[in-house]
Amino acid sequence: MKSVPETFGSLVFGDEVMRQRLPKETYKALQKTIQKGLELDRSVADVVANAMKDWATEQGVTHFTHWFQPMTGVTAEKHDSFISPTKTGTVIMEFSGKELVRGEPDASSFPSGGLRATFEARGYTAWDPTSYAFIKDKCLYIPTAFCSYGGEALDKKTPLLRSMEAINKQALRILKLFGNEGVTSVKTTVGPEQEYFLIDKAMYEKRKDLVYTGRTLFGARPPKGQELEDHYFGAIKTRVQAFMNELNEELWKLGILAKTEHNEVAPAQHELAPIFTTTNIATDHNQLTMELMRKIAAKHGMACLLHEKPFAGVNGSGKHNNWSISTDTGVNLLEPGDTPDENAQFLLFLAAVIKAVDEYQDLLRISVASAGNDHRLGANEAPPAVVSIFLGDELQGVLDAIEEGKHYDKKVRKQLKIGVDVLPKFPTDTTDRNRTSPFAFTGNKFEFRMLGSNASISCANIILNTAVAEELEQFADELEKAEDFTTSLNALVKKVITEHKRIIFNGNGYDDEWIKEAEARGLMNLKTTPDALPYYVAEKNLALFKKQGVFTETEARARYEIALENYCKVIHIEALTALQMLKNDILPAVSAYQKEVADVLYAKESYKVSAKYEKAMLQKLSSQADALYLETDLLEKNLAKAEKMTNYSEISYFCKDVLIPEMAAARAIADDLETVVPSGKWPYPSYGDLLFSVK
Ligand code: ADP
Ligand code: MG
Repeated sequence: MKSVPETFGSLVFGDEVMRQRLPKETYKALQKTIQKGLELDRSVADVVANAMKDWATEQGVTHFTHWFQPMTGVTAEKHDSFISPTKTGTVIMEFSGKELVRGEPDASSFPSGGLRATFEARGYTAWDPTSYAFIKDKCLYIPTAFCSYGGEALDKKTPLLRSMEAINKQALRILKLFGNEGVTSVKTTVGPEQEYFLIDKAMYEKRKDLVYTGRTLFGARPPKGQELEDHYFGAIKTRVQAFMNELNEELWKLGILAKTEHNEVAPAQHELAPIFTTTNIATDHNQLTMELMRKIAAKHGMACLLHEKPFAGVNGSGKHNNWSISTDTGVNLLEPGDTPDENAQFLLFLAAVIKAVDEYQDLLRISVASAGNDHRLGANEAPPAVVSIFLGDELQGVLDAIEEGKHYDKKVRKQLKIGVDVLPKFPTDTTDRNRTSPFAFTGNKFEFRMLGSNASISCANIILNTAVAEELEQFADELEKAEDFTTSLNALVKKVITEHKRIIFNGNGYDDEWIKEAEARGLMNLKTTPDALPYYVAEKNLALFKKQGVFTETEARARYEIALENYCKVIHIEALTALQMLKNDILPAVSAYQKEVADVLYAKESYKVSAKYEKAMLQKLSSQADALYLETDLLEKNLAKAEKMTNYSEISYFCKDVLIPEMAAARAIADDLETVVPSGKWPYPSYGDLLFSVK
């Protein structure tokens, strides 16, 4: 058997393979394209394509696909074979530079938020050479961006690349001011921690709600949930370990740096964390990770649930987005340095993040908003819907000192240019970390914790990169024209801290008191997706996107429309599923059981035998069944009403204010009934069956 280092990245057309297989000039030209984002010459593309094809066909590959990330949140692909007929009736395997660089999928069925109606029906895909091609299932995958013919982004990659370019440009200006001439590119880096559930596949298939919606719409609480906290970091079960082993192997072959795996808090819940990499690649890798999790789970007789809240009453799943900014010279710009200059620079980048998070709280909230994630945020298991930053005592001490114009006197060191002492090394052990903050500084990076497990990390990083780019631009504008750099820098950092300190909160984010305080501080509390989404197209946000070249106004409005539609469609599917379960399974099951009880009661009464239990039971069943029927009826009528509405904004509020509460009311009664109907007569596997089925 081959060792991990031997197989790592073996399915990737990465740097090593390129170096071996491409002529020197081609390799150099391609590197330039990758590093500097330059246009690729067609003749170069032909050579690269041919080398890729040879490399792939040697490994049994017959097809290629442009792999892209439409606004559905999942990836898309259409396979084409390499075969090309010859005059003699045989075929050869061919792949041209043109086919590598550009594709034209029939894209008319992907969400476009009206973009295609306004412009061109077709879309095209364009090779993104910054993310390596790879082999999966006998097919060569080429990561691409997906745009309309008018150039409007129809995907999640294009704006991400644009946002990375925006932050690169502005960060370079800042670095120049600090005399870092050697740096030629700056990239953001991300390590996303992925949570998921594994349950038995046979159980999964018996649950219409899981199959259609990804979450349970019904289900009484089992006697045991997560209260003993015995699952967290517990010994991994054999079947789960077999799954994890295969997953790791497959991910490693794809060059994905799967690093940490462990059991999470809820029963049947697990986590996988990779080693961080460039944001664009991390995004592609996270998509692949989720896809492989699903596929490999199925091979092991399990279903992988990536929904943000598959089960009521136990923790949902999130995705912590560890984010930082790095130079091509290997410097992490969010790492406090050893020298005064480095520290001043660190403080300026920190100030940019603080200002960005405060000014664009709404966009950060929107970047994680979905029907599924609404179940987590603010439910005391994930950060609240209020965005705030955790810095920790030590860094807070430094900022307080700057604000008050004092020394930071943890250790007496000499006075420095910026007006603070050499920053202390921040503790990097995890013990004193704040786990309740939406956006926490963790020593040399920020951990954005509001993301749901199911979402592409693209959206969150587009917003982060863009907002921070904007602040860096403002800082660079000011500092480039400063007469005295140090004085202006001092004043700027102090001003930002003073004006934006309201966004910093180092306490317990799960505490209700904090929500009150946050409101008093004027922070936004956008509780649900319909509350948050309208801010997508707020003037200040449209201006930000436009200025940073990330979204035109049309593109931003299209994305707003898509997010809104998606929310409404998800709730619509949930309501339809709930109705089907109620009408076809739950109510009939309750009815059938009532008949059984009634039969016993009738028999007992005719023999004049005491039938207290049967009588009480029948009464309870009967009154609960009536109540459930009324709720079902109401839900059905209101769903019909929603189906007649045409304005998605209106529908979204109707979903939030009417349909979701009605589904919850029906569920409460159904769950209560589940506790009295005998196990064998309830139409679905119970929560206990689902959560404790994998041995
Ligand atoms: P923790 O102490 O939080 O466990 P780790 O170092 O294990 O910290 O990191 C958690 C996640 O953060 C991992 O996915 C890791 O790769 C990622 N990470 C670490 N450093 C960076 C960085 N500079 N940029 C982005 N992500 C990072
Ligand atoms: Mg974490």
